[in-house]
Amino acid sequence: MSSVILSYILFALAIATGLTSVRVIAGNGKKRKIDYAIISTCICSSWWSFFWAMLFAQTDPEIAWLMRAIGMLGVFAFLISVTYIVVFWSGLEGIRKKCILGFSLLAILVYPLNVQRAGSKFYMTDFGMSYEFESGLGSNLYSIYCIGIIICLVLALMYMRKNSVRRRERVLSMELLLCTGVVAFGSVLDTIMPTFGFTAFPGSTLAQSIGALVLFEAYTYYNKSQITLSNISKFIYYSVDEPILLFDEKEKLCIVNNGAAVFLEKTPEECCKLEINDIFDLNSNIFRLKGDKNQIEARCVLNQSICSLSIDKIYDEFHEIMGYIIIVHDMTERIQTMHQLEEEKMKADQANQAKSRFLANMSHEIRTPINAVMGMNEIVLRESEEAETVEYARHIQDASKTLLALINDILDFSKIESGMMEVVEEAYSVRSLFTNLYTEIQIKTEDKGLYLNFEIPEDLPTILCGDEVRIRQVLMNILSNASKYTQKGGVTLTVTWKNVGEKQIELQVAVEDTGIGIKEENMDKLFGAFDRVDEERVHTIEGTGLGLSIVQRLLELMHGGITVESEYGKGSVFTVTFRQKVINPAPIGILMEKAGNQKKHEKYVPSFRAPEGKVLVVDDNKVNLTVIKGLLRKTGMQITCVERGQDCLEMTKKEHYHIILLDHMMPEMDGIETLEKLKADESNLCKDSAVIALTANAIAGMRDMYLEKGFTDYISKPVEGVVLEKILKQYLPEELVKGTEES
Ligand code: ADP
Repeated sequence: MSSVILSYILFALAIATGLTSVRVIAGNGKKRKIDYAIISTCICSSWWSFFWAMLFAQTDPEIAWLMRAIGMLGVFAFLISVTYIVVFWSGLEGIRKKCILGFSLLAILVYPLNVQRAGSKFYMTDFGMSYEFESGLGSNLYSIYCIGIIICLVLALMYMRKNSVRRRERVLSMELLLCTGVVAFGSVLDTIMPTFGFTAFPGSTLAQSIGALVLFEAYTYYNKSQITLSNISKFIYYSVDEPILLFDEKEKLCIVNNGAAVFLEKTPEECCKLEINDIFDLNSNIFRLKGDKNQIEARCVLNQSICSLSIDKIYDEFHEIMGYIIIVHDMTERIQTMHQLEEEKMKADQANQAKSRFLANMSHEIRTPINAVMGMNEIVLRESEEAETVEYARHIQDASKTLLALINDILDFSKIESGMMEVVEEAYSVRSLFTNLYTEIQIKTEDKGLYLNFEIPEDLPTILCGDEVRIRQVLMNILSNASKYTQKGGVTLTVTWKNVGEKQIELQVAVEDTGIGIKEENMDKLFGAFDRVDEERVHTIEGTGLGLSIVQRLLELMHGGITVESEYGKGSVFTVTFRQKVINPAPIGILMEKAGNQKKHEKYVPSFRAPEGKVLVVDDNKVNLTVIKGLLRKTGMQITCVERGQDCLEMTKKEHYHIILLDHMMPEMDGIETLEKLKADESNLCKDSAVIALTANAIAGMRDMYLEKGFTDYISKPVEGVVLEKILKQYLPEELVKGTEES
């Protein structure tokens, strides 16, 4: 009877350990080495208990022996698994680890000797089937092996206790020691005692099952201390500053993190009494939204902040809703900053518009009187026979040119600053670029008694494509500076070039002077806007400190660059580099022989005469009319002047004019409106005549604007006599244009 009870107990333990292994197998996540070791230990334990239960239930000694022989497979496998687990947890390494694991594997040798039929005696007792070993190699080796394993485990655990820093590892080692102790005690009863002739009692079998369950306990404890999503999510939840609200499936708030309690200014308990609508101002039930993830904006009624809510549905393993997670992002500050930025941007845009308006006005207002000064002065220069008057007029001319250059610089600078400056690429003649530059700068160098050399390679391509106006402006600026800041010696411009890809060249233009030079410490201030360096030396020389700043920015726009080398007191070299497309690669040949002998202050001769050419000039400013009339006097053209757009329309109905010079800004009817009306009137005699905008409005993009409005061409004030003649000659019927006696 008692053997039956023992068998039942062993069966029960076999089932318990078997189920434990199934639990680990069915556990979530990827299996680790330790999981496999626990699974194997529990299976072996179950196997061991099962066959020992069978053994004690037998009446036939032969079958009982067979049961023990099969059960012993589980015993050895169990001992090996336990040794692996303990060595793994103890952190033993190197030779000690190898020795212990190696010793446990000796089971392969011990097992066949231990299960020999010859050395064991199976018989019925009062407790049922039992056995004894005859003292021999097999039973002795097995006892030694068991004692050896126990010693190994105790050593490994002592090592672990000694070296563990953390308390949780010490607790683990205690549990394992306990397990080993139980197994050691049990093995005295059925392994050691039968060797000395005592009847076996399945002590180690019972003990190992308990040991296996203790091991599982230790394993659960070990897992708790590992970083896994389930272990750590609690810490994450509470440590995140963003408010997180957890609602159950009945939409009741059940958990809040610290972030949420701080945000809602309530204790977690108070928070959990709230409904979602007590917290947020919502139009609809956000838990009924479609999809598993939603994002909505809502105002928090408790603290008035504007929030973005991330709503996530959580499901159980049957895919039924378990609850909802709401993560609250407080957007108040961000929205306020955005509003502020928008406001700032609006203000900046308004200021920019005001600046542009101011520039347009300034350009217009200053250019109109300069036009009068320069125009009248040009007439004086042309017509005066008195040397002294001519001399005074030349001074007026120089001063007004400087004033105009200054206005142009300020306008250019503002254009660049507001991003309105654009690079317009067109084909241009390299020859005319350099000859014009030479001619213009020569006037300045000659005045100061400086030499001027242009060294242009003969193989430089004839026609290039780029923004000629801006390139001229850059080079003119550097050449003017070179002549401005040089008192003796002179200026040399040297061009070098190289191919950089198909139909593209890189030009390097170096302007060298023998002037005052620049101090080392001033080099990096050169390109700052309004920065003039070495003030005490240059203050007598005209300048604003804008030129080089404009040059640098223009070159940046053209993807080029500028470098400076200078020796204080000896001179400077400014080198600009930029790329241009090649339109005609034919070499320009020798260039400078033709240029250079520009006669200064030549007596004025009109470029053409056209006594039958009829021109109508429309401008509300009487002085401007006088200027234009005076400038064109020697061409012999018939010039009619009117002051209002309305007068222009009336005159053109009665008379045909070949060209109309039409001012833009006029009171009552401006130039654009006048042109529109003129073109719209079928009966107007000047419907097909060239209408040229004549305007002081000279900021960027104006030319395109006038052409778009229907003007034939555009002249900006102040009008230069030469430019005016050139443009009129272009639009007059060819048969009316005659050469002059002098030309
Ligand atoms: P500015 O209108 O004063 O000439 P720039 O921007 O063209 O303005 O030049 C800035 C400063 O750089 C000048 O004031 C001058 O001190 C210095 N500088 C420019 N070019 C030269 C040069 N070739 N030699 C000596 N100093 C120069």
